[in-house]
Amino acid sequence: MSTRETDSETADVLVGGGGVAGLTAATFTARAGLDTTVVDTDESILARNAHLENVPGFPGGVDARRFLDLLVEQAEENGVRRRTGRVTDVERTDEDADPSDGGESHGDADPSDGDAFEVSAVSDGGETRTYRADAVVAASWSDASYLDGLGVETRDAGSKTYVIVDDLGRTDVEGVYAAGRLTEKYHQAVVAAGHGAEVGLTVVHDSETPYYHDWVTPEGYFTDRGREVPPGCEEIDAAERERRDAESRDRMREAFEGPHPEPQRTHPSLVDDELGRLDE
Ligand SMILES: Cc1cc2nc3c(=O)[nH]c(=O)nc-3n(C[C@H](O)[C@H](O)[C@H](O)COP(=O)(O)OP(=O)(O)OC[C@H]3O[C@@H](n4cnc5c(N)ncnc54)[C@H](O)[C@@H]3O)c2cc1C
Repeated sequence: MSTRETDSETADVLVGGGGVAGLTAATFTARAGLDTTVVDTDESILARNAHLENVPGFPGGVDARRFLDLLVEQAEENGVRRRTGRVTDVERTDEDADPSDGGESHGDADPSDGDAFEVSAVSDGGETRTYRADAVVAASWSDASYLDGLGVETRDAGSKTYVIVDDLGRTDVEGVYAAGRLTEKYHQAVVAAGHGAEVGLTVVHDSETPYYHDWVTPEGYFTDRGREVPPGCEEIDAAERERRDAESRDRMREAFEGPHPEPQRTHPSLVDDELGRLDE
C-alpha cells in the first residue's frame, strides 16, 4: 500500500467503528506503518457494561468506560486518526472491478496501489464526509448496511446482520475486512479485541508492508545472534526500558486515580436518552 502525506480524508486503512475490535485493529495497522483512520459513532456497546471483570490483565475488574478511553488513547498514540461519523456507504473507486464476481479487479487495476474505496460518513450535524482508502475494516457492531453496495456476503439473523469472513477476517470482496461482534464472534470484549488484532494483522500481511511480528525486545535479542531486527520489531536498551516502564506506571496511576466522570449507560430503550445515560 502507498504511504502518503498526511491528508485527513485519505488513508491506507479505513476502519468503520471505533469500539473494542475497531480500535484494536487500527492500533495494529497503524503500528505497522499503515495510515489509519477510524470513523465512529461513539456508541460502543461495552459502555453499557457495569463492571468489566473478564478482560485479561485486570484481576479486580475495570470500569468499561475507562477501558474504552484507554483503547482510544492507545490507538491515537500509535498514530490512528479518529473521526466522528456514521459510515453510510462504501464504493469501489476502481472502475474495472466487477462486484458480481466478488469485486475482484480486472485489467491493470491493482487494489493495493491507490485508493480502492470511497467511504461516506455522515456527522451528527448531517454533513457527509468522504474518505478514500485502500482497505476497509468493518468493525461497526451492529451496522453492516454500508457494505450492501459492494455485495459483501452477510447472514441475517432476526434484527441482526452478520458479515461473513474467512478465518483471518477477509470478506469475499477483496480489500474489505470485518472484525468483532459484527462477524458473529462471541459477544465478549476480549474476543472482540483479539479478533480486531488478528484482522488488523491480516490487513498488514495483505499489504506490501514488510512485517515479521509487532514485538518490543531487549537490546541484542536479534542483533547479538547475528540477525537484523525484523520489520515490525524493536530492540530497546535497559535505559529505554526503564523510561517506558516509569512512564507506563505514571500513566496508569493517573488513569485509575478516581471514578470515571461519565454516567453509566444502559439500554437506550430503558431511559429517555439516546445513548442510554443514567441519571446519577
Ligand atoms: C450490557 C452489556 C454488558 C456487557 N458486559 C460484558 C462483560 O462483562 N465482559 C465482556 O467481555 N463483554 C461484555 N459485553 C460485550 C462487549 O461489550 C462486546 O462483545 C464488545 O464490545 C464487542 O466489540 P465490538 O468492537 O465488536 O463492538 P462495539 O464495542 O460495540 O464497537 C462497535 C463500534 O461501532 C460503532 N458503529 C456502529 N455503527 C457504525 C457506523 N455505521 N459507522 C461508524 N461507527 C459505527 C459504534 O459506535 C461502536 O463504537 C457486554 C455488552 C453489553 C451490552
